[in-house]
Amino acid sequence: MSPQTLLNHSPAQSFNPTQFDQYVMHTYGRFPVAIAKGEGCRLWDTEGKSYLDFVAGIATCTLGHAHPALIQAVSAQIQKLHHISNLYYIPEQGALAQWIVEHSCADKVFFCNSGAEANEAAIKLVRKYAHTVSDFLEQPVILSAKSSFHGRTLATITATGQPKYQKHFDPLPDGFAYVPYNDIRALEEAITDIDEGNRRVAAIMLEALQGEGGVRPGDVEYFKAVRRICDENGILLVLDEVQVGVGRTGKYWGYENLGIEPDIFTSAKGLAGGIPIGAMMCKDSCAVFNPGEHASTFGGNPFSCAAALAVVETLEQENLLENVNARGEQLRAGLKTLAEKYPYFSDVRGWGLINGMEIKADLELTSIEVVKAAMEKGLLLAPAGPKVLRFVPPLIVSAAEINEAIALLDQALAVMAL
Ligand code: PLP
Repeated sequence: MSPQTLLNHSPAQSFNPTQFDQYVMHTYGRFPVAIAKGEGCRLWDTEGKSYLDFVAGIATCTLGHAHPALIQAVSAQIQKLHHISNLYYIPEQGALAQWIVEHSCADKVFFCNSGAEANEAAIKLVRKYAHTVSDFLEQPVILSAKSSFHGRTLATITATGQPKYQKHFDPLPDGFAYVPYNDIRALEEAITDIDEGNRRVAAIMLEALQGEGGVRPGDVEYFKAVRRICDENGILLVLDEVQVGVGRTGKYWGYENLGIEPDIFTSAKGLAGGIPIGAMMCKDSCAVFNPGEHASTFGGNPFSCAAALAVVETLEQENLLENVNARGEQLRAGLKTLAEKYPYFSDVRGWGLINGMEIKADLELTSIEVVKAAMEKGLLLAPAGPKVLRFVPPLIVSAAEINEAIALLDQALAVMAL
């Protein structure tokens, strides 16, 4: 195909759903719109209809769309150097690692390309630590939570405590077990049971707030008890911060809402604002990888690190954590008003700009139906399971845009009166 023909096929000019369905593998249930461009918190589809974006690429577009700082950083970087191997030192990678270490409890950072990969790195690190530092002769077990989500690779679907993601993909890797989230007694019992078998708990892997599992914040007392149990038993605490890290909760990291520090934590989604990146952080005490034991071709390349540096510098320069906290409170207040007006909802909850609105269990109404009705009115939302609406706008969202989202959701709910 000549360059001219390629240009004529530019998706923003002409979207062809038949072509898409014929050639793209059917692994996603997609809404029947094609998005052509974005600016700030607003998106436009190929028909020219505009939407207020409260999905942000599922908690990924930290600075919204076409943010000048991101454009400037990636444009400058691609003209200078976009990719080079980890055979060499990469200055942008060093600068980003320094920012993360100076703004978290971590001492060291490993870069990769996605949340699943960051969690894979954490799982490998836990196992190496168990075999070399804890000197486990028994099989190391990673305990994770029911309703959790950790990614789509074989190890991370196994860590994910939702059987629907594992179905038909067996045999799954050994060495995982599950406990209910926010339930300390269940955790203590599981550790005892596992220790009585020929296995040992090497790590507890949790989300500070369960995102895909229904926007369920961690309980402070639970996490403090988990930290104590880990300390007393030589167990590593791994937190998956892929959805909640990088300012989304109103603090840089989700664990800051829980008054504890993990030994290992992971990040991806929002870190480079929509340019692919993943990161696995740990304390020096468990940084046990040696050269050659873990790697990634693209991980920490100059392009993705320049994008992430632009994101984190903008977070600081534009005081975005303050905005996240103020807009989050405003959003929850607005959602609570809607929950009083329409008797469909049992709960509104969240931290900062990751919020959920739960539909009453005894109603037949599903989150996807409300998401579709909101989309009709020009508001993009994402479901978090069958009964929870998820609100994760860009962290730059304004007070006026929060009010607009509440008004659009109000209109959507009004026409779906049950
Ligand atoms: N962990 C959590 C908490 C997530 O929310 C996700 C994605 O939704 C992942 C891991 C997987 O991230 P990725 O899709 O970048 O592999």
